[in-house]
Amino acid sequence: MGCKKIDQRDAMVRLIRGVAGVVRIDPKRSAPGRGAWVHPRRGCVQAVKAGGLSRTFRRETRIEIDLVEGLQRLGIAVDDVGTTGASVGAATGGSGTR
Ligand SMILES: [Zn+2]
Repeated sequence: MGCKKIDQRDAMVRLIRGVAGVVRIDPKRSAPGRGAWVHPRRGCVQAVKAGGLSRTFRRETRIEIDLVEGLQRLGIAVDDVGTTGASVGAATGGSGTR
């Protein structure tokens, strides 16, 4: 899953396979069944792919929502790290006199 780092479950978000194989966020980490764990970080969440989830759950799984947005809607803060630095370039590339 994602970055493939195993971390404390407190530090991670649980995803479950819901009705019709559509992935859902399990904010209480208490839904029955197998869960997939991911860091609430933009880079990690965006690395979650339907194919990887299908392997984790051993069944066809689909992602029908923007997981980052879904987490934020549930009040889970998503760290804005792990991207390839597109925003960093925009922030630093000001009006230089090169
Ligand atoms: Zn991660």
